[in-house]
Amino acid sequence: MARIDTSKLHPRFANLILQLENQCAAKGLAIEFSTGYRSAAEQDALYAQGRTTAGSIVTNARGGYSQHNWGIAADFFQNIKGREWENWFFDTVGPMAESLGMGWGGRWTDFPDRPHLYLPDWGDMPTALINAYGLHGYDAFRAAWGGSSVTPSQPSHGGSVDGWKATGTATATDDGVWFVATPGDKSTLIQYFNTGNRFEVDGQKSGHWIHAMSGGRTGWVSENYVAYDGPSHDEVSGSTLISAGQIHANNYVNAGLIVDGVRGDLTKHAGIKCVQQAMNMDYGAGLAVDGEWGPKSDSALKGHYVEHGEEQEMVRALQILLYLNNYNPNGVDAHFGDGCKAAVGEAQQDHGLTLDYVAGYNTFKALMGV
Ligand SMILES: [Zn+2]
Repeated sequence: MARIDTSKLHPRFANLILQLENQCAAKGLAIEFSTGYRSAAEQDALYAQGRTTAGSIVTNARGGYSQHNWGIAADFFQNIKGREWENWFFDTVGPMAESLGMGWGGRWTDFPDRPHLYLPDWGDMPTALINAYGLHGYDAFRAAWGGSSVTPSQPSHGGSVDGWKATGTATATDDGVWFVATPGDKSTLIQYFNTGNRFEVDGQKSGHWIHAMSGGRTGWVSENYVAYDGPSHDEVSGSTLISAGQIHANNYVNAGLIVDGVRGDLTKHAGIKCVQQAMNMDYGAGLAVDGEWGPKSDSALKGHYVEHGEEQEMVRALQILLYLNNYNPNGVDAHFGDGCKAAVGEAQQDHGLTLDYVAGYNTFKALMGV
């Protein structure tokens, strides 16, 4: 499918798409986008499909009523032939997009739209934009961007990033706050912000001056008189090692985990599934891959171990388990290398096991938490 034209998207949304692509690339997630901006006329033609023209109904939105008509939405999929619409992929990437500050259609209760990402400043529907610009108002809306847009009606959430490094929105907390073209220079005043005025930020800072955009103009405001709308940085995100393990578990046993870096109950069961799967492949154990550790799984594991230099599925399961327990085996490749050995040693020490760098019954059980 063709790459979408991000120049037709709101610049802040286009920037969020870029950040999401970078995050996905770092995690080995093959994200691609199928639809970005769609004109209101194209939307009307799509709406007619299955109603007044041939085909099946594909949308409930007439021209202007879709966020795509305003350049504030894009649909994503997994760019692997035959695996484009796998649920785990949407459930993995959707929350990542949310933590960057995007809205995700997967949260919609009436008609969940899991591939759909959007700029949430105007809510779930473009009603505020229709009111401001008319149903076919994309061009007028776009003309107001100039690096900015109409004042957002809702804060956009910056996610688990350090305050001003994020793109998002901020609110003035005082009256008469300078919005100036040059940091600290009142002679370049563009306007005053008053308490509650909202503007956009793009992560640039100069001293204590924050780069801001409002009403199509860019300038600087002092960080002393504004509040960032996103969560503060004490809102911690989960472990990146555990997140990596969750992605591998999703790939290996279709675990369907939300990639949040938190070792919860589902993540623990996913680790057990990986071991069950590996024992089926390596030993023909014939286990149900159900994430429940019963007597059959237990006796299948007894007597088996993997150690440095070996290459088999049980090593792959071990590597995933290490990640899921916040250790770094330095990759998941089914090959028991130096990184894997070091991580096994760490785990054995942490769990009070014999330090022999061999992953046997006790080490696997400790990592599975059974
Ligand atoms: Zn969409």
